[in-house]
Amino acid sequence: MSTSSRLDPAQAVRLQRILLASAASAVTAGMTLLVAWVGGISGTAAATYTVAVTTMCAVAYLLVRSNLNLHFRDPGLSGPLLTAAGLSVSYVAYEGEQARPAFIAMYLLAYMFAILSLRARGLVWTAMFYVACYAGVVALSSLVRPASTDLRRESFRIVALAIMLGWMTILGNYVGGLRRNLRQANDRLRQALARTEILASEDPLTGCHNRRHVMELLALEIKRNSRGSAISVGLVDIDDFKTVNDTCGHHAGDLVMKEVTEITRATLRATDFFGRYGGDEFLIGFSQTTFANAQHVVERVRRMVADRAFSGVPPGRQVTVSIGVAEYRRFETIDDLLSRADAALYEAKRQGRNRVV
Ligand code: GH3
Ligand code: MG
Repeated sequence: MSTSSRLDPAQAVRLQRILLASAASAVTAGMTLLVAWVGGISGTAAATYTVAVTTMCAVAYLLVRSNLNLHFRDPGLSGPLLTAAGLSVSYVAYEGEQARPAFIAMYLLAYMFAILSLRARGLVWTAMFYVACYAGVVALSSLVRPASTDLRRESFRIVALAIMLGWMTILGNYVGGLRRNLRQANDRLRQALARTEILASEDPLTGCHNRRHVMELLALEIKRNSRGSAISVGLVDIDDFKTVNDTCGHHAGDLVMKEVTEITRATLRATDFFGRYGGDEFLIGFSQTTFANAQHVVERVRRMVADRAFSGVPPGRQVTVSIGVAEYRRFETIDDLLSRADAALYEAKRQGRNRVV
């Protein structure tokens, strides 16, 4: 069995439930042994019950632990466990005639596990099964030991058990509904949160990080860089973008931005990051990269943009970018680093655009 399936959250919940059921079974076994001690049931019957419930819990535990339960139609094993619990309780109720009220309480304890795992239909069936079990105990007692069976009193107990289980079914169903609603609300919240996180960090036009997020990543990179390996940044600005918009239309301008994003994304390594810094400007963060290496990469970006035939832009009309590069100096602020990159970008524009400075 693989480790990942063993850590499956659904299996973990099942295991937890079986451990809880084992603890409850230990309590009932203790109770039965106590009844045996005061003479309400034979020692043999109490021991048989203890062995039976221990075996039952151990088998269930091993089935889930080994993932064998996943081959069953009911991997939670609720059906078999609840049935076995009902039959075991019926056995001691039959054997321990003197202490039946105590054993009737054990049906209720077992039924609480039904509430944890079953829906309305299953709850009703389990409740009816437990009432039938106890009615069977009474019927058998009255056949085998008619003299010591008080049918009036036993009928009252059967009705009382039916009423209690009926109420527990209604309450269990109500609580189950609340739990399901809560789970659905949680799922919706989780989805909404994931969506919000994307909205808060993504640039809607290009799909790359937005300014806030790329700045966060840069700050994190600088903070993490305790060993002092090099960090560089590049500021990429599309040349004469206003003219692109004016001559080819705003839509063509949008497409250019998207394609510049694609080119940049395809050129960077997985450890680098970039985002839209503003208008037609992009910020690239190079982790563990010296100035010379960053320059090398952005030069490739510049060349690929210049060689690209952009959609929506007439053939022969070249679109270019200017890029300013700077390497982080220890102890300087992010603002200092970015102003140096911005100064380099300004210099690239001044020198005639379509270049890296
Ligand atoms: P320079 O070479 O000096 O950078 O010239 P430029 O025309 O590119 O000047 P600047 O960078 O100042 O202009 C940015 C332009 O980018 C202005 C604005 O119309 C355009 N722009 C900003 N955001 C968007 C956008 O989301 N879509 C489009 N199509 N254009 C945008
Ligand atoms: Mg520009």
